[in-house]
Amino acid sequence: MVKTTFKIALDGPSGSGKSTLAKNLAKRYGFVYIDTGALYRTIGLFVCERGIASDDKAGIISCLPDIKIEMKLENGGGAVYLGGKRIGDEIRTPVISKYASDVSKIPEVRAFLLETQRSIARENNVIMDGRDIGTVILPDAQIKLFVTASPEARAKRRYNELCERGVETSYEEVLADMKWRDANDSGREIAPAIPAPDAILFDNSGMTIEETVENAAEIIDKVYNK
Ligand code: C5P
Repeated sequence: MVKTTFKIALDGPSGSGKSTLAKNLAKRYGFVYIDTGALYRTIGLFVCERGIASDDKAGIISCLPDIKIEMKLENGGGAVYLGGKRIGDEIRTPVISKYASDVSKIPEVRAFLLETQRSIARENNVIMDGRDIGTVILPDAQIKLFVTASPEARAKRRYNELCERGVETSYEEVLADMKWRDANDSGREIAPAIPAPDAILFDNSGMTIEETVENAAEIIDKVYNK
C-alpha cells in the first residue's frame, strides 16, 4: 500500500533563512528536515577535491558513477554521507558554494540526486529545503512556501552565520557571492530557483527568526492538523 506522507516544500534563495525556518518547523511538527543544498554541495566537494574546474561539465558528469552519496536519517534530519563518510561543515565554504551552484546547473547532476530526495519523502513526513522542491522534486507537496528577503538582509545573515562557524570572510564578499549565486540559480535553464505557481510567497526581510517561524506556522496550521 502506498503510504501518504505530508510534505512541506520550502524554496528560496540562499540566505533567506530557509534552513533555520525549516529546522524550527521540523521540530515543532515532528517532521524530518531535509537540506537538499547539502547534496549539491557534497557533489561540489567531490569534484573540487578531484581537481576538476567547476565549469568543466564533461569532467563533472564523468565523476558521477564514482560518487556514492547517501542520506541517512539522524536526529530528526537527513545526514549526508559520501563514500561512507559523514559530511559536515567542510561543504559550507565560499569555494564549495560556488561549486554547488555550478554543478547544480547540470541536468545529469540533478537527475542523479532526484531519487535520493524523493525516496525520503515517500517514507516520512518531511520539510524539504531547496530551490526546486515545489516545482520539480515534490510537485505534490501539500504546502509550498517560497521564502525570500532582500539581498542585503540575506548577506548579513549569512555573514553572521559564517563568522559563528569560524569561516573567514567579509560582508562584501558574502554579498557579492550571494548576488552571483542568485543570478546563477534563478537564471539557469534547468530547475531555476523560482516559485511554483501554487507556492505562497513569504518575505521575511524585517522579521526575527521567531516571527518568521510563527508566521509560517500560521500558514501550515490552516492545512495540517497534528
Ligand atoms: O541551499 P544551499 O545554499 O546550501 O545550496 C547550495 C547550492 O545548491 C545553491 O546555490 C543552488 O545552486 C544549489 N541547489 C539547487 N537545488 C536545490 C538545492 C540547492 O540547485 N534543491
